[in-house]
Amino acid sequence: MLNEKNVKLGKVRSSIRELYEYGKKRKAEIGEENVYDFSLGNPSVPVPEAVSNALVKLVEEGDPVSLHGYTSAQGDFSVRKSVAENLNARFKTKLSADCIYMTCGAAASLAITFNALLNSGDEVITFAPYFPEYKVFVEHAGGKLSVVKSEEDTFQIDFTALEKALNKNTKAVLINSPNNPSGVVYTEQTVKRLCALLENYSKKRGEPVYLISDEPYRELVFGGVTVPFVMNYYSRSIVCYSYSKCLSLAGERIGYIAVNSEAEEWAEIYAGLCGAGRALGYVCAPHLFQELVKAVSGKTSDISVYENNRNKLCSALTEYGFTVVKPDGAFYLFVKSPEPDANAFADRAKRFEILLVAGDDFGCEGYVRVAYCVSPKVIESALPSFRALAESYKL
Ligand code: PLP
Repeated sequence: MLNEKNVKLGKVRSSIRELYEYGKKRKAEIGEENVYDFSLGNPSVPVPEAVSNALVKLVEEGDPVSLHGYTSAQGDFSVRKSVAENLNARFKTKLSADCIYMTCGAAASLAITFNALLNSGDEVITFAPYFPEYKVFVEHAGGKLSVVKSEEDTFQIDFTALEKALNKNTKAVLINSPNNPSGVVYTEQTVKRLCALLENYSKKRGEPVYLISDEPYRELVFGGVTVPFVMNYYSRSIVCYSYSKCLSLAGERIGYIAVNSEAEEWAEIYAGLCGAGRALGYVCAPHLFQELVKAVSGKTSDISVYENNRNKLCSALTEYGFTVVKPDGAFYLFVKSPEPDANAFADRAKRFEILLVAGDDFGCEGYVRVAYCVSPKVIESALPSFRALAESYKL
């Protein structure tokens, strides 16, 4: 008998993927330019020239044996050192190479972290709307995902709801800012309040609650907004990072986990990551791409494209009568459904050849997500259809 749970999981495609597949089929039927596909968070901006150049240089000038050979399970030492130094320079932390574990993207960072921290029955609290894979990763690590609603309109943390949710089984709180799917960035006030609450709660309980920050969109912020770095506010914190979005390297699978050296038991946490990585087979992230991220440390792709898309889409949709959540980062816009059932709204949008994902998939009913990481041309050509969609609701 096979593992029924995994067989079942393997047979259900996420509704985002389902919609993406529908989009591909529809494009083949009526032409690529006539379908406005906002389903998937796949970066549309090319990798920076510095990335292409560094890649060519590595392949042409690097040692062809070691470049494609194994590194240490947790990643090459000089790569981890460069990640630690970059974080220290930006955030005044005191991380060493031994606080960094190189991974195959944020998905692996999260899966390893949950497996390192959780015992059977432990709970991880996160906030709706949230990235749906969290539930899969937490449950696979033997834990339970507990979802707490966010404040209405601002989508910052609802602290009353959080206080109610904290309990003796809470092992960690997981945040994601800039957020997928709302695009909201937590203010410093929110982060400070969260950390103070967790500090007090941990003290009272006599056992720590860990803070995990999933931040693949850290650099994608607009209009001078900054993303507070959790390690500056909370000692028992772990950052799960990825180069998928900021360098448009989603298909190359490269990221890292950083453990805060201020945590009393940081070395134990790190050992837990190494053990979990080993048990999951997440060892030695692709060596070529480890070297690449070291070579282009501090670079990002041209995020002005996303900012322009956001500005155009936000102002047009607001003008047509839609209500949107103000996004300060990532490349998603959360739009209030004009009817109570966001799935019905997404279905109606489909009739206008606009592909949107219902918020239900992110644990938040009544909204749809627009992934605007598309070419500016797609935004431009989609606007008349958005207007017609609004008119169909008499907005
Ligand atoms: N976390 C969030 C919030 C995401 O949106 C994504 C991908 O879209 C991931 C994690 C996984 O990222 P990666 O491609 O680096 O595995």
